Amino acid sequence: MIVQNLSCQNFRNLSDAKINFQNGINVICGDNAQGKTNLIECLWLFTGGKSFRGAKDNELINFEKNFTKIEVNFYAVNREQKIQLLIKNGKRIVSLNEVQKHSSAQIVGCFRCVVFAPNHLTLIKSGPEERRKFIDAAICQIKPTYTILLSQYRHILNQRNTLLKDIPYHHELEDTLDIWNERLCEVGAKIISNRRKYIKRLSVLSSNFYDGISNKRETMNISYKISCCKNEEETNENIKNLLMKKLNQTRKNDITFGFTSTGPHRDDLNVKINEHEAKNFASQGQQRSAVLSLKLAEAELLKEETEEQPVILLDDVLSELDVSRQDYLLNRIDSRQVFITCCESEVLNKIKKRSQCILKVSGGNVKIKSDDRSE
Ligand code: ATP
Ligand code: MG
Repeated sequence: MIVQNLSCQNFRNLSDAKINFQNGINVICGDNAQGKTNLIECLWLFTGGKSFRGAKDNELINFEKNFTKIEVNFYAVNREQKIQLLIKNGKRIVSLNEVQKHSSAQIVGCFRCVVFAPNHLTLIKSGPEERRKFIDAAICQIKPTYTILLSQYRHILNQRNTLLKDIPYHHELEDTLDIWNERLCEVGAKIISNRRKYIKRLSVLSSNFYDGISNKRETMNISYKISCCKNEEETNENIKNLLMKKLNQTRKNDITFGFTSTGPHRDDLNVKINEHEAKNFASQGQQRSAVLSLKLAEAELLKEETEEQPVILLDDVLSELDVSRQDYLLNRIDSRQVFITCCESEVLNKIKKRSQCILKVSGGNVKIKSDDRSE
């Protein structure tokens, strides 16, 4: 997949413009607070996901305006394609190749990216929700129908939780709990199965990348921690039965506390470095290397499944890595289209020789920097 150009209007602090990109490494440089991350964030939105910075849609609109309109032209599946996204009054209007879609979920899987930004360290440091989100978003890009499973599950879970809260006041409602248990198990087992298959493959690739990044000095292992059963080779039907068994065991407690205590919404991704929980024991550099390995593995799986290289977005990554880790990363990615942000520093001097396009961002203006790669 190759991004040809991006047009934006009223997007955060970026000036209205059309920006052309090249295949290979596109460097986005500039001082702090000029708009580099805004540009990366803008590209990411065409995946159909929410901002990777956790911003609400209306925060993406320039302070002075009441809408933002962005458009990307890209080459994928052997043809030129276009996605337009308008955000106004808290709503998104999306069109793919001039055809308007009902929601941005409908474009998931069309524009494929892997992003790594400093706040992605939360993938290791924070609670299981961030890790589940990472796995789910990664599967969605490969298999867009998984988005439907997730939204069905969210709906069933909300209904079941509401019912659990009502039962102590209306005991007769308990009879209807079995219907929701059945639905939760049906959809929940499919989610667990998808995640398990994905994590199994991600595990092999990410361990290899971690070996490379750490120069074989450290090891990383990931595994899927399932709340309703052990992570052994179970069929979909087995997982469903085990989830039902667990729901029956926790039924009384669930009614007492008013929420569902088992199911894929309680699962986690265990990340261990040198056999120890990364969350509690890994250093900053190890955490960063672990996230990078996971993201590189995600990109590799996307390529294997879709037979197309995803675009790689790296925000402020290089400055935080030591020289050997920087070199490893650059060697792994320079055959793809990559967008890297950095300040004008040694890092820029290092990557400009490898880059196809250097863009300078200043006060929201994005300009091609004169070709001084040989300096
Ligand atoms: P750094 O090197 O510090 O990461 P950056 O170039 O990545 O800087 P951005 O995060 O892209 O900086 O932000 C650039 C500027 O955009 C900030 O000054 C910020 O206040 C401004 N900004 C953010 N949201 C909006 C908005 N909705 N409207 C106008 N300006 C905004
Ligand atoms: Mg930034």
